[in-house]
Amino acid sequence: MKIEKVKVRAIDDVAGRVAEVSTDKLKFQTPSRGATSTEYNYKKTLKLAEPFDNKVGEYVGRFNAEDIKRFRAKNGSYSNRLKQAAFYGSAMIFAVSKTFPQHPKNYAFDEDTIRLLVELQIEAGLDVATIPFAPMSAGNLLKYYARWTKHCEDYGERQGRETVAAPEVPMYLDEEPFQRVMEGLWDSRAAYPLVALTYAPIREYKINYDFLRKEREQETWLHISQVPRVPPGASRERRSAMHLPQIYGIDTVTTAIPWGGGTPKADFDFAALRYFDRPTLSVPRISEWRTEHGSENPNCSCPACQGRGFQEIAEAAQGSAEEADGLSALFGAFRLHEVFESGLAFDEGRVYITENGFQDYLAERLGQGVSEFTG
Ligand SMILES: [Zn+2]
Repeated sequence: MKIEKVKVRAIDDVAGRVAEVSTDKLKFQTPSRGATSTEYNYKKTLKLAEPFDNKVGEYVGRFNAEDIKRFRAKNGSYSNRLKQAAFYGSAMIFAVSKTFPQHPKNYAFDEDTIRLLVELQIEAGLDVATIPFAPMSAGNLLKYYARWTKHCEDYGERQGRETVAAPEVPMYLDEEPFQRVMEGLWDSRAAYPLVALTYAPIREYKINYDFLRKEREQETWLHISQVPRVPPGASRERRSAMHLPQIYGIDTVTTAIPWGGGTPKADFDFAALRYFDRPTLSVPRISEWRTEHGSENPNCSCPACQGRGFQEIAEAAQGSAEEADGLSALFGAFRLHEVFESGLAFDEGRVYITENGFQDYLAERLGQGVSEFTG
C-alpha cells in the first residue's frame, strides 16, 4: 500500500482536526477509530456477520522479554508469528492493516531482532510496518528511523510489496526529545506520512499532547495505539480514553489489549463489564449504567446489541460461542458494541470540528471537566 496524501480538511479553533488520508487502497477521514486483532477475534467468536466500519485494522503482536529472545532464536517462533500476522492481514482486507509489536517499555532491541521484526511485518503482507521504538537520543533516533524505513523499502521491493514504514514514537518521551523527534519526522514528511504514537497518560504527559495540539496543521497521519478503556489513575474514572486523543489532533486510535492476568471465574457477573455510552463518551460499568438509567434495557440498535437487554445480550453471546469461549464471547459482545457505537461517535464529532464547534461537543458530552484537556 502507498499513502498518497494526508490533507487537513478542518481545524477547530480550540482542539481537534479533520484530516483526509488517501491511500491507493482506500481513502478516509479522521478522527476515527481503528479495530484491533482482538476485536476482529470477538467478531469471529460471536459469528457476527456485519462488517466493521473501521478504516484501520491493527494486528497487535505481543512480545515480552522471553518472547523476544525466542523470536530471535527459534525458527518456529518466527513462522508462527508470520502466520498469525498474515491471517490478520487478510482479515483486515477492507481496512488499512497495520501491526503493532507491543514490547516492554524502553526495550533495547538489538539489530537482528529489529531486522526480523521489520521483515516479518513486510512478509506478512500488512500495509503498514511499525518500526519499534528503541531508547536513544533524539538525533540518533531519527537516523535509526531513516535506516529502517529505507530497509523497509528495499526489503519490500525484493518481496514485490510496498509497505509503509511507521516510526513508533512513545508519548512518554521527555518534552525536548519528543518535540525534536516529531519536528524531525515532519521535516521529512514524504518519508514518514504516518507516525505510530504509543499511548501514555494525558495527565502525565500533557506537554507532549499539547505540543501536538498546537501543531495540528501538520499534514502527517498520527495514529495512537494502546489506549486504555479509561484514563489510568482515578478509580471512579469512566471517560472513554479513546475519545480524548482526538482533542490533540491525533487522527486514529486503537485500544490496548491487556497482557492478561488470570482467568475470570465461570460465575463472572457481566454487570461488572464496561458499556460504551455514546451520549456521554464514557464507559460506565453496566451496573452503574443500570442504576443511572433506572432501566435494564440499553435500547441500542447496533449490530452487537440489536435492541436487546443486557441480560439477553450476555446470554446470547455465551450461547453462541463454543463452551471454552463463553467468557471471552461475553467480553466480546459488549466490546463489539463499542466498536460500532464509538465509531459513530467519531463520525458525529467530525461534523462539529468542521463547524468549529468541537469544544461545545466535548463539553456537552464529557461535561465541564473537558477544560482540563482543552485549556
Ligand atoms: Zn450496541
